[in-house]
Amino acid sequence: MAHPIKITRIDVHEFQWQSPNIGVDDYYNSFNAVYQPGPGARHTSYILQIHTSAGITGEFAGGSSTDYAQMAMFVDYLIGRNPLERELIYNDVKRALRKLDRMSMGPVDIALWDIAGKLYDAPVYELLGGYKRSVPAYASTYHGDENGGLNTPEAFADFAEQCKDMGYRAFKIHGWSHGPIQREVANVLAVRQRVGSQMDLMLDPACEYETFGDALKVGRACDEADFFWYEDPFKDGGISMVAHRKLRQLIKTPILMGEHLRTLEPKVDAAVLDACDFLRVNPTYDLGITGAMKVAHAAEGLGLDVEIHAPGPAQRHCMAAIRNTNYYELGLLHPLAGSTSAPIYAEGYNGDNLDSIDANGHVPVPDGPGLGVTYNWDLIEANRTGRKSYP
Ligand SMILES: [Mg+2]
Repeated sequence: MAHPIKITRIDVHEFQWQSPNIGVDDYYNSFNAVYQPGPGARHTSYILQIHTSAGITGEFAGGSSTDYAQMAMFVDYLIGRNPLERELIYNDVKRALRKLDRMSMGPVDIALWDIAGKLYDAPVYELLGGYKRSVPAYASTYHGDENGGLNTPEAFADFAEQCKDMGYRAFKIHGWSHGPIQREVANVLAVRQRVGSQMDLMLDPACEYETFGDALKVGRACDEADFFWYEDPFKDGGISMVAHRKLRQLIKTPILMGEHLRTLEPKVDAAVLDACDFLRVNPTYDLGITGAMKVAHAAEGLGLDVEIHAPGPAQRHCMAAIRNTNYYELGLLHPLAGSTSAPIYAEGYNGDNLDSIDANGHVPVPDGPGLGVTYNWDLIEANRTGRKSYP
């Protein structure tokens, strides 16, 4: 019998956190988080709580100020609604936000899955049909810096070797935000030369290269160095189907695309139009766990793999229930600095730090009800900068 449960109140908690030695790149003004010796930049973070008539609260840590400003557009719709009707809510909100990027729906949907898991006393991965208890991670680096950290190809090669020795099976480079492009080429070749053939390597310029020609030069180096994928290389912003299809015709390295295409339909278009080899999805960006699983199954239907963007509990639960996926993005990592995320998890989650992998290079999937995590509210309260409640 269906559960008579309603959403009664929604809280958005805001707090700030400072990570030592990680600043915002002021050398190139790229907005990248980079190694910068010192106290570090302050980051604003959020926890979303969706309370229900059953006394169960769904929680999600993450999202941005714009996500929660956008959520205010449909929060009245959510109050009084059955939180288990995720498909209905997905479709109603998707239409309501059609003039916007719809990124506010991700945090909401993830909190709704947390409610469902707590109600049914089962982890989210189990509700999704999951069968993996741990997932293989790649070390995803901070961007290259000019501050004595990851500042040369040799420094990246040293770090890749360190990660390989720790048990990582794969390593992804985020290079520098500005040229010379020959340094990017040298980086790709130096890292492969150092780690040998037994580690998967990936490159994510995060849309930094100035021209298609630069993307092609570095792509040819990825071919030479046998890279596993090449992701969002240049300043089309990771959205041009024509440019990525053309790049695929000119290089051999698989192209990963979709981090900057929002929702299911344009991601499927990218695959069908031959713009990419691997699809990308992030439950926080792409209408939640509901949206992410739609992309995973669409990719499965095309015979392709979907790679989950960024770390977090929702990402681990999704990956545990997807066959056609390869690596969990663990990061951002650096040899001289830690995560920009506050240590907010009290139980159920071992964090996303350099030493969060086991001897096989895996991270565990949380096993408690819902997302399977609890929060350190003392830390959140001590760093609180705001709170908004609806109604
Ligand atoms: Mg990326």
